Amino acid sequence: MSFEDILKKYFDRAYSEIDFVKRTYASLKKLGFNDDNTIAATCICRDEISQTLRSIIKHMWGEAFNLSSLAGMFFAGKTGLAAAMHHAPLVDGKERYVFYALPHIAIDADAKLGVCRREGREGASTACGALAAFQKEMSGGKLNLLMDNEDVEQSLIRMRLLREIQYGKVPDLLELTKITQAVIQADLENTIKKVVDTNKSDYAVITGIQIHGPESNYIWPAECYAVVNGNKIQLKVE
Ligand SMILES: [Zn+2]
Repeated sequence: MSFEDILKKYFDRAYSEIDFVKRTYASLKKLGFNDDNTIAATCICRDEISQTLRSIIKHMWGEAFNLSSLAGMFFAGKTGLAAAMHHAPLVDGKERYVFYALPHIAIDADAKLGVCRREGREGASTACGALAAFQKEMSGGKLNLLMDNEDVEQSLIRMRLLREIQYGKVPDLLELTKITQAVIQADLENTIKKVVDTNKSDYAVITGIQIHGPESNYIWPAECYAVVNGNKIQLKVE
């Protein structure tokens, strides 16, 4: 089975990372966003295998503000978001931001979820490690729901994601990644609503899941849209 066939098993569509960023750039350009008048911000996992996406975004949009936490969760909050906004170019009285917000999952050549290989290390590794660790705790039936000040981001992941998971049900890693995608989007949008003034700013929210295949990375697009002069416009990634 080719990896493209494996991808189809789990996702209705997927683009190479480069293709995805190019397509989103092209559709946003038609709406007045470009690398001169827009700041990009990323909210992706800290994992080094996720950073290829940041590199491509940098190549297309310039250096991007980093809103990221473990698993790509949006924990940067109002302060983080306001900082990204205040760093945006001000062109003709308008600020423009593009947010790329995506959790990630690895899939190996045998279609196994969460499994990847890393340079210089024998044997299999895991991605997203933070989500896999949380999933393992749920399967084991023991969860520490206290804030561990020596493990702040992982504590917040448990607390935040559990709100979206039916009590007693343990999602598999793909389901958990999809739940995480929806949570990242919701938390980002909730903060945008409080912080962004659409009279002064246009912005775009690009969400999906970053997928690590055995050879390269892909993106499954979830919701992708722009808000221009206060009007929401769905982006065509196709
Ligand atoms: Zn991760």
